[in-house]
Amino acid sequence: MGGHIPIIAAVRRGWPAVTARLCLCVLVLAFAGLGLVRAADQNEPKRVLLLHSFGREFRPWSEFARAIKTDLEQQSPWPLDIQEHTLLTARFNNPGPEEPFVDYLRSLYESCPPDLVVSVGAPAARFAQKYRKQLFPATPMVLTAVEQRLVDRTGLTDNDTVISIYNDFQISFDSILHVLPDTQTIAVVLGASSLEKFWLEEIKRDAKRFEGRVTFDWYSGLSFQDILKRASSLPSHTVLFWGLMSVDGAGVAHEGDVALRQLRAVTNAPIFSYQDAFFEGQTVGGPMHSTAASSRKTVDTALRILGGEKPGNIKIEPLTFASPRYDWREMQRWGIREENLPPGSEVLFRQTSVWEIYRWQMVLIAVVILMQAGLISGLLHERWRRRVAEVESRQRLAELAHVNRYAAAGELTTSIAHELNQPLGSILTNTETAELMLKGVSPNLDEIREILADIRRDDQRASEVIRRLRSVLKKTPFEIADIDLNETVGEAIGFLTAVTDRHKIVLKFTPAVSALRVRGDPVQLQQVILNLIINAIDAISETEAKVREVTVTTALSGSFAEIRIGDSGPGIAAGDLKNIFNPFFTTKPQGMGMGLAIARTIIEAHRGQIAAENRLSGGALLTIRLPLTR
Ligand code: ADP
Repeated sequence: MGGHIPIIAAVRRGWPAVTARLCLCVLVLAFAGLGLVRAADQNEPKRVLLLHSFGREFRPWSEFARAIKTDLEQQSPWPLDIQEHTLLTARFNNPGPEEPFVDYLRSLYESCPPDLVVSVGAPAARFAQKYRKQLFPATPMVLTAVEQRLVDRTGLTDNDTVISIYNDFQISFDSILHVLPDTQTIAVVLGASSLEKFWLEEIKRDAKRFEGRVTFDWYSGLSFQDILKRASSLPSHTVLFWGLMSVDGAGVAHEGDVALRQLRAVTNAPIFSYQDAFFEGQTVGGPMHSTAASSRKTVDTALRILGGEKPGNIKIEPLTFASPRYDWREMQRWGIREENLPPGSEVLFRQTSVWEIYRWQMVLIAVVILMQAGLISGLLHERWRRRVAEVESRQRLAELAHVNRYAAAGELTTSIAHELNQPLGSILTNTETAELMLKGVSPNLDEIREILADIRRDDQRASEVIRRLRSVLKKTPFEIADIDLNETVGEAIGFLTAVTDRHKIVLKFTPAVSALRVRGDPVQLQQVILNLIINAIDAISETEAKVREVTVTTALSGSFAEIRIGDSGPGIAAGDLKNIFNPFFTTKPQGMGMGLAIARTIIEAHRGQIAAENRLSGGALLTIRLPLTR
């Protein structure tokens, strides 16, 4: 309904208004149609022909082509149909006729020419220019990665743009001498194709400036095998400058960068080049053409042309070497110092050291180790101090035991005097008898001899008493030795028999059948036994008991040697049992209360134990346990 109203209104207003309305509609439709065409145009793929010079895998051009293709596909607002063709003729010294290849391309593109032709490298540029009229007369062309000396300026049309590069070999040689100032020879590796021969002359021209400063070796006429042979044993201070190797002096064509890899594998000299396509892992570096920069410029130009810009209007200055870049690994290999690099150089492929990767972890570990070391040395110092304290305490113990022995000796004085009196008395009687006999007319010499033997025996007995007394009273430091406990106990008992006799006490000793090997100080241990037996004698003396007996036994008990000292005294009061080993605990009016305290300290210093209990049959029982020697 609403759609009819304007027409009726137009009729009412008359023809001029209707005509205006119709014109508007036609215009709207025309624009809509144009829009559709644009949209269709937008979806239509742009056809780009990429023309290679040597082959798809021939560096450095293969790298240029690869970068250009990838960047184009990424940046193009239109769908692209990129078709690649390779001009192999440039790789032969005697290339055959080009016509069949030209015919082939014409058959492909005659009816439907591409939207853009991009040639990569000088041979492809030359070919495209030469056959442009036959093949793509109206197609815009971008001639890229072509050295400016090889551009045929006269053959350029309005429909062409050139992105040229400029090889400045003087800069290359300058930078080599900068990083390796001792260089004496630069060996230039170059093939023998017509293109390579052209470059040989160009490089020689640039090399002239270095005459007198460095010698140049030209490997251009050699077979590649000969080049490898030479390169494997170069004199020191020689470097290789890698130009190109498409056809060698023997006429052999070389594929891709295989030749450079082979050279790198055998040579004993660093390799430099002016193309960054050879940089990664093969050459040292320096100022080089940047594949990425060339690709950027080419893709930018190609998109402008595909977008409708006139190629002849796009003027681009020749691309020179990018800022120098160096391979850190090669620098290490050839001893190139970082301070020798030209200003503005970038160092790549730097291998981070373990320290750089794990710095924090290593610092942490070092701190932990330091702390541990500090702790260990602190503990060691503590241990050393404890040792010193232990030695000192043993020394004190020995001194205390010595004092204690004097106290015990006091109790023994009477019996010692009694023991000495006996032999001394006999000696006196025997001497008097012998004197009387000698006064006679015919003294019985045999009898006198017997008397003298008796005197000698009594003297020895007296000496033995004194020896034992001295041994028990001598002041010695704590000295550990391997001892048989049976012997040590037996000797102490022998010393006490006179005392027990005087007190009318029976002292019974029952040693273990086999020897009891322990490590200990015999004087100290005898001191303990002496103290315990004297205590037992004291206890029995307090009572009127009929049985007056001290029993001493030694025995094996597992990995311990055991000494048991029992008596027939009144035993220890139940309340005192836990106190008797404390210093100064005594129940005796004249007692010091140190005997058992010292005994326990001595036994514990021997890693043993001492315990007291009351026997069921009456009397006290003291038990000492000492570890057996292994
Ligand atoms: P002291 O003999 O000078 O008193 P000790 O340390 O040798 O010092 O003995 C401490 C106490 O242990 C003694 O006073 C005594 O009461 C008790 N004692 C030790 N041995 C015996 C024992 N065989 N029988 C009864 N009591 C004992």
